[in-house]
Amino acid sequence: MICDNLKNIEKRISVACERVGRNRNDVKLIAVSKTKPIEDIKEAVSCGITDLGENKVQELKDKMEVLEQLRWHMIGHLQTNKVKYIVGKVALIHSLDSIRLAEAIEREAAKKNILVDALVQVNIANEDTKFGILPEDTELFIKNLAQYTHINVKGLMTVAPYTSNPETNRPYFKKLKKIMVDLNSKNVDNGNMNVLSMGMTGDFEVAIEEGATHVRVGTGIFGRRNYNLNRS
Ligand SMILES: *Cc1c(COP(=O)(O)O)cnc(C)c1O
Repeated sequence: MICDNLKNIEKRISVACERVGRNRNDVKLIAVSKTKPIEDIKEAVSCGITDLGENKVQELKDKMEVLEQLRWHMIGHLQTNKVKYIVGKVALIHSLDSIRLAEAIEREAAKKNILVDALVQVNIANEDTKFGILPEDTELFIKNLAQYTHINVKGLMTVAPYTSNPETNRPYFKKLKKIMVDLNSKNVDNGNMNVLSMGMTGDFEVAIEEGATHVRVGTGIFGRRNYNLNRS
């Protein structure tokens, strides 16, 4: 079933890319495996998945230990006291959302003498319930990150509002892309940002049309999550 789902998602990614003249290889599919067992992840890997996303450090850590060869992405809110468990182990931290967190990552990365790739999470719709830097604060935030020499800001990430109509999120995806383009043209962070992590099961096609380079798809690949059964 997971492989059938994946084929369907792959097809839809390709069609969305074609619609706007983008290359399929310029969009990375991250399979979001939160709450799902190792067997499900192995199945997804058997049909081509290389990148996995998790939103909780403990679960990420447990799964990484079993499946070390995969590329793991931290996509959820990260507490400073848990930074040490993932720095140097994950491919990309998508959820850099405070200076305190940046300080913690910097300290750990300096200790391990490594450069950590991260995305700045932007709360694109100014939602009270969401983490992330407000759009209007993003420029200053990224300028402040320049002091952390062990953090490499690769781009921006957002979790758009929950919606049953993906078109309602198009303006938010457009806005995130514009923020990155504007920051690059002002040479903020040396104009080096090129990653846009946006789009989930409900809206990844619209996100791709608006420039997503990384889409994070959970339900569409692994099926619905049952938090009651899986929460420890
Ligand atoms: C759970 C989650 C996803 C995937 O959500 P689906 O709607 O199941 O595709 C993507 N991004 C983040 C940050 C998540 O927490």
